[in-house]
Amino acid sequence: MKILVIGGGGREHALVWKLGQSAGVEKIWCAPGNAGMAQEAECVVVDAGGVTGLVAFAEKVKPDLTVVGPELPLVNGLVDEFLARKWAVVGPDKKAAQLEGSKIFAKEFLQRHNIPTAEMYGAHDSAGGAYGALCAVDWPVVIKADGLCAGKGVFVAPNPDAATDFIERVMEKNELGDGGKRVMLEEALEGEELSFILLTDGERYAPLVPTRDHKRAFDNNQGPNTGGMGAYSSAQLLPADLRDMIEKTIVEPTMNGLAADGIPYQGFLYVGLMLTKDGPKVLEFNCRLGDPETQAILARVDFDLAEVLADAAGGKLKPEKMKWKGGASACVVLASGGYPGKFDTGKEILGLADAARVPDVKVLHAGTRLAGDLIVTSGGRVLGVTATGDTLSAALEKAYEATGKIQFDGMHYRRDIGKAHQQSSAAGD
Ligand code: AMP
Repeated sequence: MKILVIGGGGREHALVWKLGQSAGVEKIWCAPGNAGMAQEAECVVVDAGGVTGLVAFAEKVKPDLTVVGPELPLVNGLVDEFLARKWAVVGPDKKAAQLEGSKIFAKEFLQRHNIPTAEMYGAHDSAGGAYGALCAVDWPVVIKADGLCAGKGVFVAPNPDAATDFIERVMEKNELGDGGKRVMLEEALEGEELSFILLTDGERYAPLVPTRDHKRAFDNNQGPNTGGMGAYSSAQLLPADLRDMIEKTIVEPTMNGLAADGIPYQGFLYVGLMLTKDGPKVLEFNCRLGDPETQAILARVDFDLAEVLADAAGGKLKPEKMKWKGGASACVVLASGGYPGKFDTGKEILGLADAARVPDVKVLHAGTRLAGDLIVTSGGRVLGVTATGDTLSAALEKAYEATGKIQFDGMHYRRDIGKAHQQSSAAGD
């Protein structure tokens, strides 16, 4: 099987790593990939968000299967183009990807099918309308830009001044681009957050192992929100009774709702949940895998990933094939100095070979590139040091041992992955 993986971050490196272990895989391309993926696959200079360029590349190399990592090509309709040509692809089409691409579309879907979620106060396409609506909400209020905003489109506003400021920045100053043209106001939910990620072929679905990520930049959930500073996976995260409740009250009504609305959904579906005192409620849908959750999830794969993804793309998912390693996994993200704010790139990364020698560790690359013979930083999140173990503490110990061998100027990472529960008051990815 020849496979094209679209994207160039840690999530996509994890996909390439596990797809490369599948028995039938003879070739993997990555568009655009990174320095780590370049050691395991052929990276090609094609923009991951550009549908035309990706179609032209696939036309040339004719992959047997394409796996789409990020949301942008999905929301831009890449899968529609592939399906029109009868090419096998993992990911939802443009209409189904609206579950992530439009918060208002997702909210209306949830309401239509009586799926538990935060109450929507209203949707507005003018700043004036949104300001006016603030006099009739409970505080804090959650303000969500409707479209894709690279994780910056959600704000939990504690008071009217903060809400007004966010609406002004999004709708009047256009700071988030087109994604902020409409906003939605909704009730703020309280509880612990949990992500539930599944793979579906449109009819059948299979949950992946549970994970939790850490969004804040610094230990003890301090500092600004990031794309994710680490993640871990262990069965303890999701007791069987809670999993059953989530499947019954959220996942099954979602699958049935999609079918009833004539929106066939194929690919990964990420359901962001708040475990409230009234039960689990949906915060958001993402139409793809999370990053860095994927790194922790795929480290526990004990099945042929390429075969299972090809089954899903072909409408023949066999959930029973998806066997997982017991124990736990952890991913520690090493970030550039200054991230998630301004940071420099081009810093030489040392110690990668030493880190790779720690047993049960895989160093997954995100923002890295080759500069001659050197591997240098090229993004905010640079590496995801990922390990498995019989227990969460064993996995963490190995991940941190390997982390200790890696160095680059300005490198920072959290030392409490797998320990602190996440408390965030603003956007995630
Ligand atoms: P979303 O992209 O919709 O998941 O929002 C990103 C983050 O904002 C979530 O992970 C939550 O931490 C927070 N959030 C979103 N919606 C709500 C809500 N209704 N109540 C409280 N927090 C929320």
